[in-house]
Amino acid sequence: MKPESASFLAPSAGARAERNVVVIGGGFAGTTLARSLERRLPAPWRVVLVSRESYTTFNPMLAEVVGASVFPEQVIAPIRQMLKRTRFVMGDVTGVDFERREVRANTLAGLQALPFEHLVFAFGTRATLALVPGMAEHALPLKLVGDAMFIRNRVLQRVARIELETDPALRRRLGRFVVVGGGFSGVEVAGELADFLRGALRYYPRVRRDELQVTILQDGDRLLPELPEPLGRSAARSMCRRGVDVRLGARAARVSADGVTLADGDEIPAATVICTIGTRPHALVEQLGVPLTRGRIDTAPDMAVPGLAGVWAIGDCALVKNAATDGFSPPTAQFAVAQAKQLATNLAAAVTGRPTRAFAYVSKGMMATVGHLNGVAQIFGLRVSGLPAWLVWRAYYLMRMPTFGRKLHIWVEWTWGMFFRTDVTHLRFTRSTDNEDEAAGAAPVPAAATHPAPLH
Ligand SMILES: Cc1cc2nc3c(=O)[nH]c(=O)nc-3n(C[C@H](O)[C@H](O)[C@H](O)COP(=O)(O)OP(=O)(O)OC[C@H]3O[C@@H](n4cnc5c(N)ncnc54)[C@H](O)[C@@H]3O)c2cc1C
Repeated sequence: MKPESASFLAPSAGARAERNVVVIGGGFAGTTLARSLERRLPAPWRVVLVSRESYTTFNPMLAEVVGASVFPEQVIAPIRQMLKRTRFVMGDVTGVDFERREVRANTLAGLQALPFEHLVFAFGTRATLALVPGMAEHALPLKLVGDAMFIRNRVLQRVARIELETDPALRRRLGRFVVVGGGFSGVEVAGELADFLRGALRYYPRVRRDELQVTILQDGDRLLPELPEPLGRSAARSMCRRGVDVRLGARAARVSADGVTLADGDEIPAATVICTIGTRPHALVEQLGVPLTRGRIDTAPDMAVPGLAGVWAIGDCALVKNAATDGFSPPTAQFAVAQAKQLATNLAAAVTGRPTRAFAYVSKGMMATVGHLNGVAQIFGLRVSGLPAWLVWRAYYLMRMPTFGRKLHIWVEWTWGMFFRTDVTHLRFTRSTDNEDEAAGAAPVPAAATHPAPLH
């Protein structure tokens, strides 16, 4: 976010008198923590939540945006609607002064200083494309709503272009979509994409069904290694039935404009590669100077950051030991929410001089979608697959949406989408200008009509 002025605003004298818990990050961890603290913190304590965006993104639903099963606004929740008494500041935190006990945030009104007595890091991680050579230049990450919308538009562009091309090799390459990574997001994107392409085909009469192919690459011996083996196998069978080319033991070694080269030398010609593997810490982590392990902030068993009084870390950005299993918490939404609830209890204890407790949580299960109306889940030890798993999955995220009105609205939209045809709108984010080409978002016209236009 660009500040309108670079002036640094000192906090007012009144602000100093407040007893603030400042939470950085409005994702699953930060918003759950703020909501829980609203009920638990005694007066005069107040929560200040500062986050880059005005909304929380329900990342597990991004694949559905790619597959046009839902609209982008159905996978986000406005933070202000989620909170009652918390002060929300939309801003990008650029640094923390631990001595002055201030967080510095770049906001619409310029640089602001937010004083804190307790500070919680809950700012998640970023996607990285650095794991495989060529990925940064040629693959598309999936981490933000904008990524999901971009991929969806790119897929529609590819199909529209196949209609216009005559070279069979080029048509095949345009119609091949490779998803790198067979974990939750990879499986969800590949399944959604396969269903989306099948549904969209009827609107592109010059594209044959066998010209469109989704391939998923997993370097392990099964999909969804986070779930019990039978569910991973069931997901793979379901994907194959949907026409997805599932490649197990297949490691992407290089990505180029022409496709993917596997570690065994095999080449997969593809114009579109989607990357669902790899995360890296936010830039802020490096500036903080806090102890890190593999890019995640080290924490004590109660989620305090060692050596910094009144500083805590939860969610994907933190490495939190789980006393219930003696292992570390996985970077999932379920654990981010559980840590936030436990930290709310610990903070309420800390501000009233009571002892805190170690984080301990027994997972209630895991779920993943495998395309539209299909999923796999293990809930309270029970294995479910197909439509019931998919319904449970959607019900869970619907429950987490704020306000009854929003829940109802989204439920109606979802129900509508279950019965009606795929939306193939290719939305361009363009504005009116005096230049019509620019306004239409037109691609540059090639120098000569006989030259093949580059793929982009
Ligand atoms: C495509 C995809 C699919 C997934 N599927 C699943 C799934 O099926 N099941 C599951 O359990 N988990 C899934 N996950 C993981 C899950 O989304 C994360 O574990 C969860 O979001 C972590 O919550 P968090 O609050 O720690 O971080 P996030 O949800 O990432 O939130 C971090 C917040 O901090 C803000 N922020 C970052 N830097 C700053 C800054 N400098 N200043 C201010 N604000 C900042 C961000 O804008 C964001 O709002 C998936 C993730 C992805 C990307």
